[in-house]
Amino acid sequence: MPSGKVYLVGAGPGAPDLLTLRAAALLKQADIVFYDALVHADIIALAAHAAHIAVGKRCGKQSTAQRFINKRLVDAARKHMHVVRLKGGDPMLFGRAHEEIAALKAAGIDFEVVPGVTSALAASAEIAVSLTQRGLARSVTFVTPRVGEGEQPNDWARAVMSADTAVVYMGLGQVASIAATLIERGMPPSKPVVVVVNASLAGRCELKLKLRDLHRVSELAMDGPAVIFIGDVYSEASVKALEAFPQARYA
Ligand code: SAH
Repeated sequence: MPSGKVYLVGAGPGAPDLLTLRAAALLKQADIVFYDALVHADIIALAAHAAHIAVGKRCGKQSTAQRFINKRLVDAARKHMHVVRLKGGDPMLFGRAHEEIAALKAAGIDFEVVPGVTSALAASAEIAVSLTQRGLARSVTFVTPRVGEGEQPNDWARAVMSADTAVVYMGLGQVASIAATLIERGMPPSKPVVVVVNASLAGRCELKLKLRDLHRVSELAMDGPAVIFIGDVYSEASVKALEAFPQARYA
C-alpha cells in the first residue's frame, strides 16, 4: 500500500479565523491530526472525521518527546492518506519543523509545509506598530533565549543588539535575565519594550515599558504565551493594558 502524505500545517497565533483557507481544507480531509498545546479547540474541530492526538507542550509540562512525534508521523503516514501535523503560529519558526521534515524524508514519506501567521506578526497587528519603519528600523530579528536540553547556549543577545527591532519568543519565564544581559551588552536601559500576551486570543494583554523595568513583568502572574518586542519603534506605541494592572507597579 502506498503511504499517505503528511502536512505540517501552521495553525496561526490562536484565533481560529487567522487560519489559512489551505489549512482549513486540509483539516477537513484529514484522517488523523497531531496537534500542539497552543492550538485552539475550534481549529482542531475542523478535522471532523479525523482522530485527534495531542502531542504538544507548554513550558515545564508533560510533552511528547520530539523523536516519538517524528516516529508517530511516519507510522501514521503508512496507515492513513492524509496526516496533519498542526503547529502553533508558523511551522518554520521555533516549531522544530526541520526535525519532522528530516524524519519524513529519511522514511521516504511525502510531505508538504503550509505556512501560518506567526505570533510576532499577529501581535504587531494588534498593537498597530510596524516592525519596520522608514528611517528608524530596517532590520528585524526573531530570537529565543530558550535552549533545549543538552544543547549549546545560544547567543541570542548578539542578534538583538544588531537588529533595529527584536522579537523574543519563549522569553516570559526569563525576563530578568533577558534585560540584564542586554543592558550588560550596552543596550540603553530606557529602550522601549512591549510585551504582548495571548495575541489574537480573548485573554490578550499588552504592557509597554522600558527595558530596565522588564523584570517586573514576572511579578504579574500572566497566563499565556507572550512575545517581547524591543526597539525604538515602540517608543510611541499606544498601549492600553497598563490600565488593567496596578499603576504603582509601573510608576
Ligand atoms: N511557531 C510558533 C512559535 C512556537 S514557540 C509561531 O510561529 O508563533 C512558542 C512561543 O510562541 C511562545 O512561547 C510565545 O513566545 C509565542 N506565542 C505563541 N502563541 C502566541 C500568542 N497567541 N501570543 C503571543 N505569543 C505567542
